[in-house]
Amino acid sequence: MIPLIDLKRQTRQLEGEIQRAIAEILADCHFVRGTSIEKFEEAFARYCEVAYASAVSSGTAALQLALLAAGVGKGDEVVTSPYTFIATAEAITCVGAKPVFVDILPGPFTLDPEKIEEVITERTKAVIPVDLYGQSADLEAIEQIAQVHHLTIIEDACQATGAEYKGRRLGSVSHLTCFSFYPSKNLGALGDAGAVVTKDLKAVEQIRIRRDHGQTGPYIHETEGLNARMDSIQAAVLLVKLQYVDGWNATRRKHARQYDELLRDIEPVTTPPIMEYANSVYALYTIRAQDRDRLQVYLRQRGISTGVYYPIPLHLQPAYQYLGYKEHDFPVTETAARETLSLPMYPELSEDEITRVAEGIRDFYQGEK
Ligand SMILES: *Cc1c(COP(=O)(O)O)cnc(C)c1O
Repeated sequence: MIPLIDLKRQTRQLEGEIQRAIAEILADCHFVRGTSIEKFEEAFARYCEVAYASAVSSGTAALQLALLAAGVGKGDEVVTSPYTFIATAEAITCVGAKPVFVDILPGPFTLDPEKIEEVITERTKAVIPVDLYGQSADLEAIEQIAQVHHLTIIEDACQATGAEYKGRRLGSVSHLTCFSFYPSKNLGALGDAGAVVTKDLKAVEQIRIRRDHGQTGPYIHETEGLNARMDSIQAAVLLVKLQYVDGWNATRRKHARQYDELLRDIEPVTTPPIMEYANSVYALYTIRAQDRDRLQVYLRQRGISTGVYYPIPLHLQPAYQYLGYKEHDFPVTETAARETLSLPMYPELSEDEITRVAEGIRDFYQGEK
């Protein structure tokens, strides 16, 4: 069996180091607000080449807190992609604002900068570009539009820890950048965790207050907030793993090159495009494939598991019916939802396994002829 994502291989390799990190927390019992939080924040900000990081309880909480810090609230509109995990849109509605979708680019599956202006109104406050599958959106093109219309950019880099835009680490480009350390992400904790990074001191102070019930001192609540702190064990484990993430990302890129090479001449398959501005971390290696659903079943029968991110775009989800979108509103997104297939991808994957996946895909289409 070749799983889509395999957490066991990495966890076993690091087991000793992880156990020691947890043992330190068990010794001091500061399970919440422990010293590992600040240490992780410093290390992660340095990693992202940006001044500040705030450790929070998940990527979803990171997005919510970033929106609150940007002053987005009731009656505001936030532009984002319909081709993302629902958390991107949930964060917008959680702060009382309305998600406004625009279609994606057919190549990289990220927000189409040219379509943003069409939906901007006097209520638009922010744009959330999503760095899907580990590759950054075209951040400069989006920034230009944002400047003209005085919009804040809150980047959803939940799939892209360590990726780069024009040689700059994600986190150092946008005003606020949100990360997820959900276990299956390319930097994963042992449970839920996330972070917001920014060069804006006021914003990071706001986020630190609001992640902890709006407290500025013990039981002094300057504002209402959330319970959205990262816990000390997750921070300690992430400090261990952060040392390895660049190496893991490099190995993911190497695996991606091998897939690219092996799949290149399979006509019904399109390999993930490499944009000249982006250095992807391949959180997922996602192809477009004709007859995607049957290919997925065929691969599963050969012991290869794959994933579809995402089968139903957000504008067609039952939860967002009330927004009034309908089928054919975002044709590029809807085609992507029918064609994308994510193949097994993690640093510990072997060359041999990648070859087996590619052979499975080749055999499927040859059998069709
Ligand atoms: C994973 C993910 C999130 C949410 O992160 P959690 O840590 O699971 O809350 C948000 N946006 C995108 C694009 C994601 O992939």
